[in-house]
Amino acid sequence: MSASDITAFEPAMYYEVTARDNNPSCVNFEQVFTVEQFYSNAGTNCFVQCGKCRQHMEILTATLLDPQPEVS
Ligand SMILES: [Zn+2]
Repeated sequence: MSASDITAFEPAMYYEVTARDNNPSCVNFEQVFTVEQFYSNAGTNCFVQCGKCRQHMEILTATLLDPQPEVS
């Protein structure tokens, strides 16, 4: 199982996620971004969208935050 097979998120949880832009025409191509508080919502359709090209990045790692961040 490769890192790109990460598709399973538990619902309503926060993760630290790293993601890479695989769009060759984007200025962010092959750059890796970290999202320190990535919310999983329903646990499906969890995407990191590039702020430049609007494409979905490849999620490389997803680490469940422990403890979960306080949300008011
Ligand atoms: Zn991009």
